Amino acid sequence: MNTNQNILTDTFGRAHQYLRISLTERCNLRCTYCMPAEGIPLSPKSHLMTAEEIYEIAKTFVDHGVTKIRLTGGEPLVRKDAPVILEKLATLPAELAITTNAIIVDKYVSIFKTCGIKNINVSLDSLDREKFKQITRRDYFEKVYANILLLVAEGFKVKVNVVLIKNFNDDEIIDFINLTKELPVVVRFIEFMPFDGNQWNLKKMVSLDEIMNTVFKTFPALDVARLEDASNDTSKNYGIKNYKGSFAIISSVTNPFCDSCNRLRLTANGQIKNCLFSSSESDVLSALRSGKDITTVIQKAVQAKLKVRSGMNTLEKLKNPELHSKNRSMIAIGG
Ligand code: SAM
Ligand code: SF4
Repeated sequence: MNTNQNILTDTFGRAHQYLRISLTERCNLRCTYCMPAEGIPLSPKSHLMTAEEIYEIAKTFVDHGVTKIRLTGGEPLVRKDAPVILEKLATLPAELAITTNAIIVDKYVSIFKTCGIKNINVSLDSLDREKFKQITRRDYFEKVYANILLLVAEGFKVKVNVVLIKNFNDDEIIDFINLTKELPVVVRFIEFMPFDGNQWNLKKMVSLDEIMNTVFKTFPALDVARLEDASNDTSKNYGIKNYKGSFAIISSVTNPFCDSCNRLRLTANGQIKNCLFSSSESDVLSALRSGKDITTVIQKAVQAKLKVRSGMNTLEKLKNPELHSKNRSMIAIGG
């Protein structure tokens, strides 16, 4: 192991400044692409990080160069002590952001503001109430939609995450883009990714090329602008002329962005995942609880990171269920 460099720089020279922390494995929705119908075995409460432990681990990451923390889950806001965790993390010198299904965000607007949260990503996979119900197995479309409007009205920067599934919601690509005509949000189309128990297959995925073909069938090429992507951005950004918002495509399957990956993940039960697609994990929580130096665990996890999608560097490998089914369900990783 190279001990001269920052513990968050991997063997390919990638510096990791972005930590995604999952607060819980629980959720008030049951999205089909995220979790199996029968649910997942939940970790016993004693195995989950407490608010204090989340802070301690996050602080160590920030001390070594993390500048952005995003809270996720499961649904991060269903955790009862979410306000305490937000307030603690807000004291760290790092940007704090959150990814949520927005069902209860109306109760959090003032807490978000006190904690300096500006960027909120909201999942919404259909603009049709019945389809929303089908994909989430719950009837909350109106609530989620109203809360997106509320967040925008309150001045938050909102990104709407849409996982596209062929013959299910790919007929809504243009409806979602039209949402950006008056609403200053970024709609992000996400390629459906394989995880344990989510019935993935390549035929269900809508690729970047297919999305752009649909766009160009509706909008004249001259009206579609390719926008600048932020550094380390996982998405390719576009805007329609004179629309207040924009849209983007996250193509982890057909065009992985591993070269510029700066992300690490911490699961609710205190495991570091060095890649979304990795089935191996590093137990930083046990190290913390037994009084060990957690920087060693963090450094080892970072050094073990592979170059592309945890070794699934081709579509053929990604298609092999043997390789991706050893990974957790997305609900227990946090996206
Ligand atoms: N509950 C919150 C939410 O839904 O936004 C946060 C957790 S969720 C696991 C985080 C993100 O992962 C969501 O944007 C969701 O759409 C995305 N996601 C879940 N399963 C996915 C899959 N199989 N492929 C692509 N994205 C997925
Ligand atoms: Fe819950 Fe988010 Fe997964 Fe849907 S995508 S089941 S809202 S964690």
